[in-house]
Amino acid sequence: MSDHPSADTIALIGAGPSGLAGARNLQREGLPFQGFEAHADVGGLWDIANPRSTVYQSAHLISSRTTTEFTEFPMPPGVADYPSHRELRQYFSDFADHFDLRRHYRFHTRVLRVEPESEARDTRWRLSFRTDGGPVQTESFRGVVIANGTLAEPKRPAFEGHFDGELLHTADYKHPELFKDKRVLIVGAGNSGCDIAVDAVHYAASVDISVRRGYYFVPKYVFGKPADTLGGALKLPPWLKQRIDATVLKWFTGDPVRFGFPKPDYRMYESHPVVNSLVLHHIGHGDIGVRADIARFEGRTVHFKDGSARDYDLVLCATGYDLHYPFIERAHLNWQGMAPQLHLNIFAPRFDTLAVLGMIEASGIGWQGRYEQAELVARYLRAQQKATPAAEALRAAIQGPPPDLSGGYRYLKLDRMAYYVHKDTYRAAVREASAKLDA
Ligand SMILES: Cc1cc2nc3c(=O)[nH]c(=O)nc-3n(C[C@H](O)[C@H](O)[C@H](O)COP(=O)(O)OP(=O)(O)OC[C@H]3O[C@@H](n4cnc5c(N)ncnc54)[C@H](O)[C@@H]3O)c2cc1C
Repeated sequence: MSDHPSADTIALIGAGPSGLAGARNLQREGLPFQGFEAHADVGGLWDIANPRSTVYQSAHLISSRTTTEFTEFPMPPGVADYPSHRELRQYFSDFADHFDLRRHYRFHTRVLRVEPESEARDTRWRLSFRTDGGPVQTESFRGVVIANGTLAEPKRPAFEGHFDGELLHTADYKHPELFKDKRVLIVGAGNSGCDIAVDAVHYAASVDISVRRGYYFVPKYVFGKPADTLGGALKLPPWLKQRIDATVLKWFTGDPVRFGFPKPDYRMYESHPVVNSLVLHHIGHGDIGVRADIARFEGRTVHFKDGSARDYDLVLCATGYDLHYPFIERAHLNWQGMAPQLHLNIFAPRFDTLAVLGMIEASGIGWQGRYEQAELVARYLRAQQKATPAAEALRAAIQGPPPDLSGGYRYLKLDRMAYYVHKDTYRAAVREASAKLDA
């Protein structure tokens, strides 16, 4: 740990998967950096003891191990296809040990403020931070890499009326004991909503799930293999892939409409698919009921938009998370609408020395996708020091029109899709930009 940063030191915020990828790549490029982590250790949300963690006791990966892990640090043989949060915490701990990354971090240290010192593109940055309950300290850095996570700030919807029972968010949920003998309504059938509905089945008096729209349910296994390991080599145009994969899904999971879900009013991959083999199983056994969108609350009664009504003890909103960068002015990150508009979801257009890692949502991007972001950032910071033509070319691209990262898919215009990218298109664009800097 460097108590007094050198003039070249980069500040790195967060020691989750993205922050660790950042640390490793800054290290690889030989750039001095100082990491800040509010929690006691590495692992980010995969350390359930981290107060900002939004995993629950039953949480496992929904993408499979080999498509998710860092390429240069495979998980040891014997780790399950879809490891639990406990194994993942260990994995990140081992990663930090292996590359000797912990010594670069100040743990128990929350970054409170990040401010440019001037209007110049290559401005230095002033960071204010506090360790435990100590005094606020301020230091100056050459650049800032933000990796504080995207799934920690609950999006709590506003409902008409008042609910007299417990009204919670998935961020509040850790263990299914919470549901014991209660009539439970889960709001939203995204990945967390479905996982938690399945947990609740074994504890609750009854479980319903309220949905606004239809979903595509992908089983965890197809032909006995993790579903996301199949079909990768074949590059098909979106319309054909959508048609083939939707047909294969119908063979394996059946038609969700038969299980009470609305028919999706969008095509496959235009929203994040739900990877869950058990939710339809439990609906088929009558253990989970599918309800319409909520119209309003009245005491313990929930009125649904289809005119039906039921009583509940606990309503749990699985309504997702807002992007949250509370320590920096929104304008510096070029916020527009629900998300910062950043070149390749990484670079703030006004500055050379400000980057964000992990602000991507995509089906199957994995930690390697985040690692590749970090590789690009570290190479760019190094190329700037050498003032190479490649650095100048990337600087121009960052200020130019945004590349199309949709892969030809028309994503739903939803808040949570505001920073969604097509995995292959995105990774190819990041790798190409990175390769140009590797001189
Ligand atoms: C239930 C669940 C299942 C998931 N399944 C998958 C999956 O199967 N595959 C997949 O790829 N992804 C999955 N994810 C997504 C997950 O977000 C990523 O795997 C990964 O954790 C993102 O890493 P990150 O470093 O960007 O953020 P995080 O893991 O959230 O880490 C951010 C870190 O920054 C720290 N921090 C925040 N603010 C500050 C501050 N001001 N100062 C200092 N430190 C700060 C936090 O303490 C934290 O340690 C899942 C998420 C959840 C909740």
